[in-house]
Amino acid sequence: MKRTHTINHLKRTIMIVDDELINLEILKEILSEEYEVLTAENGKQALDTLHSSLKPVSLILLDINMPVMDGLEFLEAIKGEDSYKNIPIIVLTAEKDNELKSIKMGAVDFIPKPYDLPEVILARVTRSIELSEGRLIIQAAGRDSLTNVYNDHIFIEYVHKMDQYQETPTDLFVIDFVHFHLFNELNGREKGDEALIAFANILMRFADNNHGIVGRLPSNQFVVYVAHQENYDALSHLFSQQLHEENDLPDLRFHIGVYSCVDKNDSPESRIEKAKHACEEIKSTNADCVKIYDDEEEKKLLFQERLTQDFFQALEQRQFTVYYQPKVNIQGEKFFLTSAEALVRWVHPTLGFISPGVFVPLFEKNGYIRHLDHYVWRETAHQIAKWKREKNITLPISINISRVDLDDPDIVKILLSICEEANISPDHLPLEVTESAYVQNEETDIVAVIEEMKKAGFRIEIDDFGAGYSSLNTLASLPLDILKLDMKFVREMEKSEKALKMVSIVADIARNLKVKLVAEGVETLNQVQLLKGLGYDIIQGYYFSKPLKASDFEALFEKEFH
Ligand code: C2E
Ligand code: CA
Ligand code: CA
Repeated sequence: MKRTHTINHLKRTIMIVDDELINLEILKEILSEEYEVLTAENGKQALDTLHSSLKPVSLILLDINMPVMDGLEFLEAIKGEDSYKNIPIIVLTAEKDNELKSIKMGAVDFIPKPYDLPEVILARVTRSIELSEGRLIIQAAGRDSLTNVYNDHIFIEYVHKMDQYQETPTDLFVIDFVHFHLFNELNGREKGDEALIAFANILMRFADNNHGIVGRLPSNQFVVYVAHQENYDALSHLFSQQLHEENDLPDLRFHIGVYSCVDKNDSPESRIEKAKHACEEIKSTNADCVKIYDDEEEKKLLFQERLTQDFFQALEQRQFTVYYQPKVNIQGEKFFLTSAEALVRWVHPTLGFISPGVFVPLFEKNGYIRHLDHYVWRETAHQIAKWKREKNITLPISINISRVDLDDPDIVKILLSICEEANISPDHLPLEVTESAYVQNEETDIVAVIEEMKKAGFRIEIDDFGAGYSSLNTLASLPLDILKLDMKFVREMEKSEKALKMVSIVADIARNLKVKLVAEGVETLNQVQLLKGLGYDIIQGYYFSKPLKASDFEALFEKEFH
């Protein structure tokens, strides 16, 4: 009976390895109608045949007892050869003992001697090829379609697998790109894709030579799991060279965060977190560089875990307090208080005072910031209403809107309901949105959200302007009211020409867009005068006041309004 196999009409090549020529002939007879058949009389010959075969071998039928190199030795040898280790092998044997041994060594099936019906042998061979090719298809589906490295799910699965057979120390490292969005914006998406593919190839080549695997994380980072490496600075240097010189990509910078000699009791996910955490530590560096996860990092990570754990209870127990920092108008002869900014603080019952610089980025990452912000916004709205009611003073207080808040389709509804509940006008609750929110957010149409906010009556203030690399194009299309210069320029403008130029350029942009100008982080009279000269309307900073508790803030009213 002739069986047409189902894989496809091209004849696949298989190899039969057996020292008994009569067996070879029988099998060849059975299989050659369906398959191209190569033969070998021992393991050594089989390896040679594999190496010299121009066609890929889809399956090997392997005898165990052979001279020169027996079947078990062959199994061992082929395991070490990347190009051949995935070929399914069926063992031909008369001994039960060998069946188990060979399956343990990676054989997919066995055919007992003396041989069964030819149909049965043919069916087993075909089935094994189908299974193995099916597995390869599944593997292909687990790859990132752009770069061909593993996706995160498959990567994690392979980390588990590697742990099972690799007892030597291993490292996990993450590659993060510096301002990749900016690279895309300047060079075009196509060039950005090209760069990712180039880097993926560099990493795959490296991993192949170091018993490693490469994956791509949803956060647009690459992750590598590999035998322990001694010198990451040299490695980073090598990658730089390959990327910048061989691939002609001189502007793309990257960071490597390494979790060296991983604890294999750690889940793969937690290993990735640790490597990412190390990366985060060097986020603000603008050069190719490396950070190894160490005890210090471990402490920080534990601290962050603690904060995450305590968050909801803290919210419920009102451990978060809103402070208010005055904003002062400096354009006229007499400076006067015009508004304030709401800034949150956490007074933790055992850890004490915690600054938002520590927990805000953390809660932006895990999404808790939404809950915290809603709380702060509500507190602020009630404070505005309270001062209006009790002091007859209408003081607008701006609130911070995080990038994560902007992904909430209900954000405008929520803001409006907060105003309504406190009975204040949206006009008195300006929204500070950091400039980086526009560039880091690819899923949400930020421009549309901002327009909706504006339509609802809120004033829009761009926070940390000058540091976020937004395109002027986007900026010009936004309905803005206020530009707030990034603090670092104020800090540096007296020492650095470049910073001063930036302060002045931002003033020009504001004039052009016909929006108000705010500078924050102002600490000295000299800074106040410089900024005033350049046309800044409003100043915020320690020169006038630190952020204050509501009760302390009221002392300012006495000075200002009486
Ligand atoms: P930001 O919005 O840029 O706030 C300005 C930061 O500069 C505040 O730090 C403020 O205390 C500080 N500052 C003000 N004047 C001076 C000065 O003259 N010199 C110096 N050196 N610093 C000054 P803070 O309160 O620690 O807040 C840090 C960041 O945390 C804020 O930066 C903001 O991004 C975030 N944040 C604070 N509160 C909230 C909040 O309620 N929600 C959200 N989403 N983020 C918040
Ligand atoms: Ca702010
Ligand atoms: Ca700011």
